[in-house]
Amino acid sequence: MTGPLMKGVVCKICGFAEHDILYRGPIRVGRFGQLSAESHTVWRCGGCWAGYLPAPEADYVSGEYRILVDGSDTAEDFYRLHDGEQAEKLRLLGTGGLRGSVVMDVGCGAGSFLDLVKGLCRLTIGIEPTASLRQAVVAKGHVAFPYCSDVAAEWEGRVDVAALFSVIEHVDDPRGLLKDIRRLLRPGGRLLLSTPNRRDWLLDVLPDDYASFFYRLVHTWYFDADALRRLVELAGFAQASVVYSHRFDLSNAVLWLREKRPTGLGKLDVPDSADSIFRATLEASGRADYLYCSCING
Ligand SMILES: [Zn+2]
Repeated sequence: MTGPLMKGVVCKICGFAEHDILYRGPIRVGRFGQLSAESHTVWRCGGCWAGYLPAPEADYVSGEYRILVDGSDTAEDFYRLHDGEQAEKLRLLGTGGLRGSVVMDVGCGAGSFLDLVKGLCRLTIGIEPTASLRQAVVAKGHVAFPYCSDVAAEWEGRVDVAALFSVIEHVDDPRGLLKDIRRLLRPGGRLLLSTPNRRDWLLDVLPDDYASFFYRLVHTWYFDADALRRLVELAGFAQASVVYSHRFDLSNAVLWLREKRPTGLGKLDVPDSADSIFRATLEASGRADYLYCSCING
């Protein structure tokens, strides 16, 4: 990568003070089509390779963020939009070892994932700053707190499994958040985290139209597998392993190429076999849109 360097700004993950340019151009400020008027620069840390977009952290407390991305901050709309995503997360987590355990979902929204695992668990803890969603979590019998730092001291070192889905890219201090989670995990406890993959193949195929959709104001951090492994290791986790998951089908890809916009799933009549090969190829080559990292509190 060539171009100007940003010097003197210390990386919040690794402390390195030299960044080069990962992306410069318009970015998404809300849903599809809402682009920034000005160019933004996403920097890449020379020490840990994390992509970094300097921007104020969004307001996750008031419901404003959910309204921005989902159009609503009610639990009913959260279920409608996100219940369908939960089976994939459970597949990655696996169900062995969950019985009788304490599971904590950080950034749990209205609790869709916790609802799925609750039958196996001794206790389910939801971390969710948005009050309207957190109230729905509590009403279903989960324990809930706004932030990890609010979790009662009695749960320190007692969480068996922590989940952190699509959260790490939003926070100002990812390493600090992982440290907060480690305080609550038992020794040997497991963290499963996920985040978009900045090696997503569409970024190469549609460097303008897709990049200005992929890079967005509410995402401060952009990881590939190496940067994600580096982050969890710097935070004190061990045995990090990353797997790729492509969440979108071949229909979505064809329509991106044709119409330069996201269309959701299943809009074109694509044979299931072609779709399976498409996804498996992206996952095997590291070019899928999403990363899962599993690691152990060492
Ligand atoms: Zn760094």
